[in-house]
Amino acid sequence: MTKRVNKRKQALSFEKMGLSDEMVAKLSEVGYEKPTPVQAGLIPLAMEESDLIGQSQTGTGKTAAFGIPILEQLEMDSPRPVTQALILTPTRELAVQVEREITKLAPNHHVRCCCLYGGRPIKTQINQLKKGCHIVVGTPGRVLDHLQRRTLNINKLWFVVLDEADRMLDIGFRPDIERIMRQCPTPRQTMLLSATLPPPIVLLAKRYMHYPKLLNFSPKIAVETIDQKYLTVPYEMKDDILVELLDREQPGQAIIFCRTKLGTERLYRKLLKTTDFDSIGTIHGDMTQSARDRMMKGFREQSVRFLVATDVVGRGIDVSNISHIINYDVPELSDDYVHRVGRTGRMGKSGIAYTLVTPDQGGELTRIEQRINKLLEVDKLQEKINEARGKEIDARPSARTSKKRYRRAL
Ligand code: AMP
Repeated sequence: MTKRVNKRKQALSFEKMGLSDEMVAKLSEVGYEKPTPVQAGLIPLAMEESDLIGQSQTGTGKTAAFGIPILEQLEMDSPRPVTQALILTPTRELAVQVEREITKLAPNHHVRCCCLYGGRPIKTQINQLKKGCHIVVGTPGRVLDHLQRRTLNINKLWFVVLDEADRMLDIGFRPDIERIMRQCPTPRQTMLLSATLPPPIVLLAKRYMHYPKLLNFSPKIAVETIDQKYLTVPYEMKDDILVELLDREQPGQAIIFCRTKLGTERLYRKLLKTTDFDSIGTIHGDMTQSARDRMMKGFREQSVRFLVATDVVGRGIDVSNISHIINYDVPELSDDYVHRVGRTGRMGKSGIAYTLVTPDQGGELTRIEQRINKLLEVDKLQEKINEARGKEIDARPSARTSKKRYRRAL
């Protein structure tokens, strides 16, 4: 079905990619000196109008990899903007981020990009759509809603992007995506970006893409610039150890990940009440969209230093100054670990990630290590925890199972 592409053919500069002078000037204006590997691989092929599957993580410049070819090929002649590109993303936050990046890269100020996602009044979006927009970015549920209301017209669409496709399927967007894809005109160009390519993604590609070329940009999963450590902490000591860790580390900016919305809110309130850390914020799915937007803005602008969050910010969100990731709770899926930790160490900067593991979570720790193909180191605070408990505690599963597992994994 797919054709693998030889990456040695990649262009090494934006100038050599056959982009317009305006685009090259714009890229230089925003400070993009040379293409990232994902851009070098995808842009030339996208400009040839091939269907593409890019296996790549966030933080690799993938938005520009599909944004640039779209912007370069937009038809701007008609007096009312006609929707020509549709970008589907798993979360509202990612939709906003994609829209921001594309607007930033548009050499022509008249390019109109609309963001459609739930939790916002549909009326405002309908008014925006009435004025017309060239590029629509949105979450599948809300995009489908607009299609059903006939407030979004995609008759002239020629470019579709499925961004973070694996995440969209995890969330359960598959039926919505399929309904949308069935309404998209053919011929068209389709690009699918995904960190992993499980069978349902391959099936989606088979159904809705035309001989896609596959480019794999997956980095070694444990990003080299990220130091990854763990601590085995009894449940009742987790709050104190977290505070001690933050006191010791003095992070520039940190995300503290919890598993549940309730747990996130509890920890946030507790930190507010019992510590004198400045600028603590929280973000989770129980907050209104405008509160989430405000919080992300504060975090991006660094007025929020510690963000207590669920996995709602685990994927896709690009804030370049995060120095620390603290997994207050071990993530449910080891893939989520990779995404959480990937919020730091962005664009080659260094970062550090700590995971608090309770003594019964040895198996989960092992699964993470298998996933990243690397053993996490124990942090030196472990000695203090052991002293406080009067004994050594070990979160790992029995040495035998562990050994077997590692042998299989490494
Ligand atoms: P993304 O993977 O699309 O979320 O991009 C990650 C970050 O890299 C964003 O802040 C982009 O603005 C930035 N970026 C993308 N491409 C380049 C480039 N060629 N040079 C420098 N920064 C880039």
